[in-house]
Amino acid sequence: AFKRPTQLNDVLTETFLLRAYEHKVNNIEVVLHLSPELPEIKADPAQMQQVFLNIIINAEYVMRESRNGGRLTVATEVAGSKIRVTLANTGPAISPEQQKHLFDPFFTTKPEGQGTGLGLSIVYGIVTSHGGTVRVKSAEGQDTAFIIELPLDPTVA
Ligand code: ADP
Ligand code: MG
Repeated sequence: AFKRPTQLNDVLTETFLLRAYEHKVNNIEVVLHLSPELPEIKADPAQMQQVFLNIIINAEYVMRESRNGGRLTVATEVAGSKIRVTLANTGPAISPEQQKHLFDPFFTTKPEGQGTGLGLSIVYGIVTSHGGTVRVKSAEGQDTAFIIELPLDPTVA
């Protein structure tokens, strides 16, 4: 991995541009709350893009399947000594039992041939190798959110 000073707001903006057509045709509204004060962190921008893409593509899938479109909300903020990126989508809640296995390699609920179950395990691996954490927050009646926290400390990893 090639880690260098990286502005995650820029990586997110580029990643959403890559999916703009997909969002338009599937009636997915994108809401960006990008902190104008977000510092750069030492990260591999290509890997971070992979993280965001894997989460976004999963969100697109559930919003396509469950209803005619939905809303994808992304926020960046500084939280203590960390940068927090939250990617939230409308769509059905994930059961507590499934939440336990979400980041396991080969865990998928998709029909045969539609999912490898590798996307979120790759997310986990990349975030961990950046000294960060990733978790899911999901309950009936609220958005499903993937929350990534990465250390601001530039000496990490
Ligand atoms: P895959 O997409 O190939 O199934 P992933 O590792 O990307 O593998 O995701 C694993 C599983 O996590 C999915 O099959 C799905 O059950 C669940 N999942 C991921 N993102 C969401 C989401 N936004 N809403 C509901 N379930 C999700
Ligand atoms: Mg996936």
